[in-house]
Amino acid sequence: MSRIVYVNGAYLPEEEACVSVFDRGFLMADGVYEVTSVLDGRLIDFDGHARRLQRSLDALEMANPLGRDELLEIHRELVRRNGLDEGMVYLQVTRGAADRDFVYPEGARPTVVLFTQAKALSDNPAAATGISVISIPDIRWGRRDIKTVQLLYPSMGKMMARQAGADDAWMVEDGYVTEGTSNNAHIVKDGRIVTRHLGNDILHGITRAAVLRFAADNAVEIEERPFTLDEAKAADEAFITSASAFVMPVVRIDDTPLGDGRPGPVAGRLRAIYLAEMRRAAV
Ligand code: PMP
Repeated sequence: MSRIVYVNGAYLPEEEACVSVFDRGFLMADGVYEVTSVLDGRLIDFDGHARRLQRSLDALEMANPLGRDELLEIHRELVRRNGLDEGMVYLQVTRGAADRDFVYPEGARPTVVLFTQAKALSDNPAAATGISVISIPDIRWGRRDIKTVQLLYPSMGKMMARQAGADDAWMVEDGYVTEGTSNNAHIVKDGRIVTRHLGNDILHGITRAAVLRFAADNAVEIEERPFTLDEAKAADEAFITSASAFVMPVVRIDDTPLGDGRPGPVAGRLRAIYLAEMRRAAV
């Protein structure tokens, strides 16, 4: 079934949508992206994603071709045109097409692409069983806080997980967990959430921010600091957060089951609160 996608101002059937072979997103991964979830046909935490998009663009000195309101309208129009009830809207902005050169081109027009993906997100059966992760070295670049389309290592990490019979991978640097391949990593010990602090080492997850806010509102203690892989394996529970997984319990790290090997109460409660609050605030 053909979707309607957005490319540089036009809504087109996906077969007709195209970008230049000289696009710097294609040639140099010179582009940034956002993924916003849709529940009941409405956007989850849109403003968080719009703000982070601006932050990524600023870090790369890339012009923002669209304001927040225009961006919201395009998201909504795509949801409407594709009859999307549940799934995601993917947005990518690249520096645009120009003769291949390492130096940023002057006056290139940013390329803007958005498309929808239908997917069952809220009734994910993995939320009831929890997921397993393997640990892999974090060999990514030093600006993981910029949400670039440079996703080859995360993709390799997911393949390593699959080959090991696991669901995902947590990346480890100097003994400390940075984050998951496409999500933020959190552990729970004695009722307290331990999660890596923000910096250049991890993506500043929009879901992470919302979940920590809800945790604080519900009197759950939070420690923002690096935690080791050993500490994670000795935790009572663990979970990941991302715009499409929401809050997802982790029940095994490498060969070590966490707690009794079943999803823990903190993750379960936070998932329920997150879904309820975000559905209510959706646009
Ligand atoms: N870390 C990485 C490396 C990611 O790719 C993602 C998802 N894009 C996240 C964390 C989670 O971010 P968010 O909650 O904004 O989806």
